[in-house]
Amino acid sequence: AKADGRGTYRFFETGMDARAQARRLLEMDLRAALQRDEFQVYYQPIRDVASGRVVAFEALLRWHHPQRGLIAPISFIPLAEETGLIVQLGEFVLRSACTDAATWPDDVDVAVNLSPVQFKSPHLITSVTEALTASGLDARRLELEITESVLLQNGEATLTTLHELRAMGVRISLDDFGTGYSSLSYLRSFPFDKIKIDRSFVSELATREDSMAIIRAVTGLGRSLGIITTAEGVENDVQLELLRREGCTQAQGYLFSKPRPASDVAMMLDRPRLR
Ligand code: C2E
Ligand code: CA
Ligand code: CA
Ligand code: CA
Repeated sequence: AKADGRGTYRFFETGMDARAQARRLLEMDLRAALQRDEFQVYYQPIRDVASGRVVAFEALLRWHHPQRGLIAPISFIPLAEETGLIVQLGEFVLRSACTDAATWPDDVDVAVNLSPVQFKSPHLITSVTEALTASGLDARRLELEITESVLLQNGEATLTTLHELRAMGVRISLDDFGTGYSSLSYLRSFPFDKIKIDRSFVSELATREDSMAIIRAVTGLGRSLGIITTAEGVENDVQLELLRREGCTQAQGYLFSKPRPASDVAMMLDRPRLR
């Protein structure tokens, strides 16, 4: 980038330097955190809208930093992806999620988020197979959540991997649906088991007619294609009622529970609402 004056340029350089330094620190911290076992998988219940039953839990990664406390994934996943550390982190999440889910009632599934970077690693199928074998979890109880950026970056190879996972019995969900550019074409390129409607549409459900129209269209699409629809970020009863009316299959959000540690799963199964 060009700068108009010397001062501006130097300021810019210093800024870059500080950022690069912060990045290096965070990267060192991330590597150490893996060694020191500072990561933990939290779980958030997903309920069947019609029956209210908990049908699955989504695994969501947390970092217990010794100085900074509990850190949400938004603050470290991007760097973990850039540095490739996400592959190790992702394996940790897969192993933990399968091991935990193996202790749950067997009509309760577990959903694990996969980063696009994990698809570039040749080990993905092996990691999934190992997590299933080590835990003894039935492959049909594992759902993998991917965003359309996965399909965008590496079309053919990704499709092959997805079909392989499918053949093992694992189910595949399309996460954050509606936030990308050409979501509809992805539904034609791969037979997804589930569509997760992005939180942004759900949060505006009661206040914006266009959000309502989009939810109606997606649930209708799901019905005609035989794909389960899950609404993310359901925070109140008005939203839940509107989703029920549109025939949305599943709902997930703070209305039911925030993500919590594995030790709280029994409690989340027992109580319909927990905040
Ligand atoms: P996501 O997959 O879309 O996950 C849903 C996010 O929405 C979670 O944030 C969850 O805590 C939050 N959420 C759930 N219900 C509500 C609600 O009612 N209201 C609001 N405001 N938020 C709600 P979280 O745990 O901070 O995760 C953020 C993102 O980080 C995830 O978005 C996912 O993209 C990524 N992520 C989390 N864990 C993993 C992981 O193990 N691997 C990978 N690759 N990515 C992960
Ligand atoms: Ca997700
Ligand atoms: Ca999502
Ligand atoms: Ca999201």
